[in-house]
Amino acid sequence: MRDRLDTHAGTPVEPTAGGRPQRGPCPPHTGVAVLKKRTIAVVGGGAACTAFLAAYARRLSGDVAGASADVIVFEPGKSFGPGIAYAEDADTALLNRPYSAMSVDYGDPGQFRRWLYRQPSARESSDNNEAGENSAGSAPEARPTTRSHFVPRSLFGQYLENVFRQSREDLRLLGSQVTLVPSAVIDLTVETGATGGNRGNGGTESHVLTTADGDRFVADEVVFAIGAIAPSDVYGLTGSAGFVAQPYPLVNSLSQVDRSAEVLVLGAGLTAIDAAVVLADAGRERRITLASRSGRIPDVRTDLGTGELPELIAGARTLLAEGRVSLRSIHELLDSALRLGGTSIREALLPYTDAWSAPELMRHRLENPLPGGLAQRCVGALTPFYSELWRSLPDASRRLFLRDHYRTYNCLRNPMPVTNAHRLLGLHDGGRLAFAKGITSVTQTAGGRFTATFADGRTEHYDAVVNAVGRTNNTAAASASSLTSRLVRNGTFVSHPLGGIRVDPETNQVRGSAGAAFPRLYVIGDLASGEHFHVSSMELVARQAAKVAGQLVPAPDRLLVGAVA
Ligand SMILES: Cc1cc2nc3c(=O)[nH]c(=O)nc-3n(C[C@H](O)[C@H](O)[C@H](O)COP(=O)(O)OP(=O)(O)OC[C@H]3O[C@@H](n4cnc5c(N)ncnc54)[C@H](O)[C@@H]3O)c2cc1C
Repeated sequence: MRDRLDTHAGTPVEPTAGGRPQRGPCPPHTGVAVLKKRTIAVVGGGAACTAFLAAYARRLSGDVAGASADVIVFEPGKSFGPGIAYAEDADTALLNRPYSAMSVDYGDPGQFRRWLYRQPSARESSDNNEAGENSAGSAPEARPTTRSHFVPRSLFGQYLENVFRQSREDLRLLGSQVTLVPSAVIDLTVETGATGGNRGNGGTESHVLTTADGDRFVADEVVFAIGAIAPSDVYGLTGSAGFVAQPYPLVNSLSQVDRSAEVLVLGAGLTAIDAAVVLADAGRERRITLASRSGRIPDVRTDLGTGELPELIAGARTLLAEGRVSLRSIHELLDSALRLGGTSIREALLPYTDAWSAPELMRHRLENPLPGGLAQRCVGALTPFYSELWRSLPDASRRLFLRDHYRTYNCLRNPMPVTNAHRLLGLHDGGRLAFAKGITSVTQTAGGRFTATFADGRTEHYDAVVNAVGRTNNTAAASASSLTSRLVRNGTFVSHPLGGIRVDPETNQVRGSAGAAFPRLYVIGDLASGEHFHVSSMELVARQAAKVAGQLVPAPDRLLVGAVA
């Protein structure tokens, strides 16, 4: 059982110091400039926030100018650290990356692995998770502890809780108090002259955050780390009996589904696969269909290597330096890297042509792991260049990529663990799992069952429907009452036409409607995806967190020792 961290109890206090909770309107500015400690509000207490706190502590450790600010973290979930992705859940919900590539610090990718090796309970759990691992996934004899490369996500969540707790303690020792507020932020306003803000050009400006509990907090800087937008209800089924609108945590949501029900899972990505495995484990007789428009499923992760592919990296640098970035030049670069490895893009993408079914793709990858595995490695190796490559592409190419190629890219970027491929194939071969493409509508009939219609005119009937379409970066899909929608409506956020909101690419500061960056509002994670392309992975989130932390602890340009000794 996880410990709860001490949190702010939500009691109103005197509204005199920055960061303190207030009820009611903020008091007027007195006109007296009081030097006070800065306060940073972090909205969202998941992986992005945890990576930020760790990066902020790292930066402060090297700071000699006394720049530490107090921090308030807002998180309505059960705990601080894991967020949505790594919350406590079924052990079959696995990380989609080997544990050796998961860390809050991309400069130290093995951090989670070392933590894991120190956890006796974690070792047992991951050792039990071996069914179906093939030779590509089995570890050498010398490995001292866990054998599976793909451990339950909740273990990573425990690591995040641990990092969160440790970073909070480090920050306290570095002079920065971290206050935890177990509530969602529902509004943010900028108030000029409010108590607690720092003096900016032409007056005192404060950010006032209001929580769902009705408390108000004042901060100088705000970091939005709220993750992606909740999955859309594509067919308007919310409220229908038998419809699961939000699948995570799987152990809670899917326990509501009758054990003998015939289940339609909407989506065919990693979320849908997580749901299918849990549904199959819980109801041995039930039949499950994964249905999506394209029918594409994630690739099977057949490459665990971390080799750097120097030719590919050098090629990406050259494209950027020579201003030759186009979809064609990136395609050629990837193709030449694959050819050096004895395959080609054409061969690697063969199973993504329309004629291939999902089971055929999985079987092919397991029997012939090289082309897909090397393509996955190439896509992963370009991670540090994503943002720059993306921003160098003409707008029309970016739109074309999102429309025609993103899905395939995402399948290669986020493949399923081999364990899951074996599991899905076993269920499919046993007649318990089907894959369907071309779904066009789902309606509930008067009798309470669901009817799905497919592009080829077929209709099928189900007892329950699980919405596993995955989270989105489309701000238009955010619920009207969400913080994102509210901030888009009041003009603080401007939706990016390619997803998320407008941010300054160099700083991750929020860009307002006039195009200028708000110097004290920052974003980490999915909200920045339109600007940077792909931001939703632990590595990319950690990179952004370090960038934002770097700006909140600016390096002093000169420090004269005589002045401070
Ligand atoms: C199911 C799933 C599995 C994934 N698996 C992997 C993986 O194996 N490897 C990998 O690299 N990446 C994975 N990812 C990608 C993942 O998104 C990132 O790795 C990372 O977890 C993102 O962290 P985050 O803090 O930005 O978002 P989240 O984890 O979504 O956390 C955001 C937090 O903000 C809180 N919040 C939201 N709105 C508010 C508000 N208004 N006020 C206060 N708090 C708020 C939420 O409660 C949540 O706790 C996965 C994503 C998902 C959804």
